[in-house]
Amino acid sequence: MDSFGRTVDYLRISITDRCNERCLYCLPENYADWLPRGEILAYDELLAIVGATTALGFKRFRVTGGEPLIRPGVVEFIRDLVATPGVESVLLTTNGTRLPQLAQPLFDAGLRRINISLDALDPAIYRTITNGDLAPVLEGIKLVKEIGFESVKLNTVLMRGKNDGEVFRLLDFAAEHDIAIRFIELMPVSLTEMLSEKNFFPVTELFAKLQREDELEPLMESFGFGPAKYYRLKKRGATVGLIGALSDLHFCERCNKMRLTCDGKLRPCLGNHLETDLKPALRPKIDATLLSTLVCSTLVQKPAEHLFRENYQPQRVMTAIGG
Ligand code: SAM
Repeated sequence: MDSFGRTVDYLRISITDRCNERCLYCLPENYADWLPRGEILAYDELLAIVGATTALGFKRFRVTGGEPLIRPGVVEFIRDLVATPGVESVLLTTNGTRLPQLAQPLFDAGLRRINISLDALDPAIYRTITNGDLAPVLEGIKLVKEIGFESVKLNTVLMRGKNDGEVFRLLDFAAEHDIAIRFIELMPVSLTEMLSEKNFFPVTELFAKLQREDELEPLMESFGFGPAKYYRLKKRGATVGLIGALSDLHFCERCNKMRLTCDGKLRPCLGNHLETDLKPALRPKIDATLLSTLVCSTLVQKPAEHLFRENYQPQRVMTAIGG
């Protein structure tokens, strides 16, 4: 439990700051400021941190990045994570581009929950946003459904003037494939697609737009461990989640997570520059007692609210923090 009585049992682990695409809103063009390889935590260091957090009651672990599926050894890491005592749920967030090759090995490694970013269904809009090719992502989505992952969700970051015209098409796609889709408000965590009044599309506006077209039934059951509020669109048959980090004034009241950056900084809040460097407890060798002390002291510092509404400026890109 943190200082505000919230149960914090969810760690999002960034295993790389590198992406194979998604450069438009994650990274500036020609971004070259990648962390040197030695700065990135090794898998055994990540597992030591997982061990320190399970001892404190953490149960859910999301593997993210950067693009986690481009890091060599990710399947074996997920297998080890799934088998770690105290780990109840392992989740993955991916841009989906490598799922055609990796969906089955990931399932065989024990992964059952996967979120796939899908910002548009129009290939040209998709390419403008991500710099990438939509076809393998759609193939990957189809494949994870066929393989039988227990939870598959789509993530769409809403950007006015970029993909707000794609909403209904995405909802139809989600309904057709029986997948929940979450629309996420753009947060001030990118260096390229900077949050501005021009590109910000509040989920409150989306809610009103959906209400004009359909009947929204609030869903009480939870579809995950995150902050989305879920609705069933009765006419379309789609399940939609809305994540309004800025417009939902109660957003942080339900926050149950901390984030680990790929270079070993533990962040108690995405929208706050507070972070603890865990490397002194990992190198030159793993010190489990110090690790546990550092994790505890970071949890105690978890702020009541993010600073996104207070002209927060990102000092790290989302890919390095692990969205
Ligand atoms: N590469 C993976 C992917 O594309 O899903 C995982 C990393 S990505 C940073 C994790 C999530 O953060 C994705 O759902 C992405 O769409 C979201 N994201 C990235 N930048 C964002 C921003 N500025 N505001 C809100 N969400 C953002």
